[in-house]
Amino acid sequence: MASRRTFLQSSAAGLAGLAAAPLAAAALPPVPAAGKPVVISTWDAGVNANKGAWKILGAGGYALDAVEAGVMVTEAEQGCCVGLGGNPDRDGIVTLDACIMDEKFNCGGVAALERIKHPVSVARRVMERTPHVLLVGEGAQQFAVAQGFPLEPQRLSVDAEKAYKEWLKTSLYKPVVNIENTGNRPTGPVGGPQNHDTIAMLALDAQGRLSGSCTTSGMGFKMRGRVGDSPLIGSGLFVDPAVGAAAATGQGEDVVRMAGAHTVVELMRQGRSPQAACREAVERIAAIKGAKAKDIQVAFIAINTQGQTGSFALQKGFNFTVSTSATPVLRDSEFLLK
Ligand code: ASP
Repeated sequence: MASRRTFLQSSAAGLAGLAAAPLAAAALPPVPAAGKPVVISTWDAGVNANKGAWKILGAGGYALDAVEAGVMVTEAEQGCCVGLGGNPDRDGIVTLDACIMDEKFNCGGVAALERIKHPVSVARRVMERTPHVLLVGEGAQQFAVAQGFPLEPQRLSVDAEKAYKEWLKTSLYKPVVNIENTGNRPTGPVGGPQNHDTIAMLALDAQGRLSGSCTTSGMGFKMRGRVGDSPLIGSGLFVDPAVGAAAATGQGEDVVRMAGAHTVVELMRQGRSPQAACREAVERIAAIKGAKAKDIQVAFIAINTQGQTGSFALQKGFNFTVSTSATPVLRDSEFLLK
């Protein structure tokens, strides 16, 4: 009969077997010194966003303030995929999704929010000033206005308008993986590449508090009323102060169906590093999708309570930004489908 000791040894070996092969040291994201802050965010938009977050983290501030301020930088940039400059839904309306979560399981989100510049800040108000976790559509907008957020004009940015007109030529819904990373609007070939992108940010502050945020205009030319993973706690974002935090970007439907960010955190709870946890979550999505996995992009970022960070993507092309000082470090992510 196996003794408890043998059992523990063999379980540890089993876990080690499940873990992803270690990354080359050069590919590993920087780790902060004990008691020092760290912030990780999705894509190269994270370079500017992390700088915004670092103003708070570097001064000894609160992770929650940092993850809000950080992604507000991207929302204000009004690029293709986050904030009011984002691509519209198929009816030509920009609808925004966002959420935020602190180190005490407090969380808030907004979905399908229109004409508000900073959905992440409305999400924080939902968290702090309502008994609810998620407000959607008209109700979310009413709440935002009541909270003093200005109602911006209902119009598309010049680039979004161009992309929408191009898309209308075919009206095909056919997302192209990593289009967000090309810096281009989807004005390309027939079949219409659809842009999608999200900024998600996770931070550990000098006091060891973890927080996360996530904000996006969602999949370009989505059906009216479509909500992705990004405003959903447990899918696009999850924070557990005893374990770590995780966030997602990419095809939201495939993140939602396996509760992506929560899954990554649970895998870290079972002993995986942030990198290995992200990898295993991506492997699950690949297994669920089968042959269709090659048609989508999904990626996770994660951080644990020691400040170790990691990321893993389904396809080549995902990058992420880590800061352990005022200078952000942009890294290409490891990925599954070679
Ligand atoms: N996850 C976002 C959504 O599905 C889009 C993205 O990150 O590319 O709405």
